[in-house]
Amino acid sequence: MQDRFTHKNKVGRHRIPWKVRKEVYARDNFTCQYCGKKISRDEITVDHLIPLAENGTDEMINYVTSCLACNQLKGSMPLRDFARTMNFQIENLPVHGDPVTNNPLLPIQIRLLRRKIIEKGRLEGTLKGTRAQYKLEKEFRRAFWNTPESLSLQAIFPNLPGQVRIMIPEIQAIAKNKREFLLLVELAKSANTRNLIGSVITTESDVEQVVMNIARKTNDKALRLRLEQALKRWQSALMK
Ligand SMILES: [Zn+2]
Repeated sequence: MQDRFTHKNKVGRHRIPWKVRKEVYARDNFTCQYCGKKISRDEITVDHLIPLAENGTDEMINYVTSCLACNQLKGSMPLRDFARTMNFQIENLPVHGDPVTNNPLLPIQIRLLRRKIIEKGRLEGTLKGTRAQYKLEKEFRRAFWNTPESLSLQAIFPNLPGQVRIMIPEIQAIAKNKREFLLLVELAKSANTRNLIGSVITTESDVEQVVMNIARKTNDKALRLRLEQALKRWQSALMK
């Protein structure tokens, strides 16, 4: 399944691609996120906030820029303990690679809501393991449920299930027209295809083209089946 966290798919542990490192460094302004020091080229590292030894995910969302000294000092210490040692706030750490928090086109309330959940997961050390993404999306849905944004979407789209409705702001940010909007709504109905939104399908995508291409080329049978089903439902939605 495609990951919604990061561009770095199917890359083994400890091998963070240079392109991803550069992105993290640039967004953190080449500054250690633990001690605040500006870092020279030979002392700059990417650190896993929740250590790999603690089952932290090897994903962009779990990366920050760290100087070599902080990285070594932290080792596999839980983030919470290290924050206490170094006297920094976990809430002040940046979030990278999250399709909601890092999407400037989304309403700020939604982005902040999502950010809070990520912060809590970091503080409590729960944002880890192979189900980290699943847990995050689930918590997010739960928190979103009673917000004014959710209630207004409920009024506009009363027939959409909750896991689709929560994707509407992201879908609206990507869709350039009604056709794309309807196709993305159909994709949001299955977990397999939902994860394409914000990772593979972004604001720059020609949505139809991308979906057709994946449906044609993917080796993932479940994904292909779900895409074909979504395309079928989309065709009948277009007729209405
Ligand atoms: Zn440092």
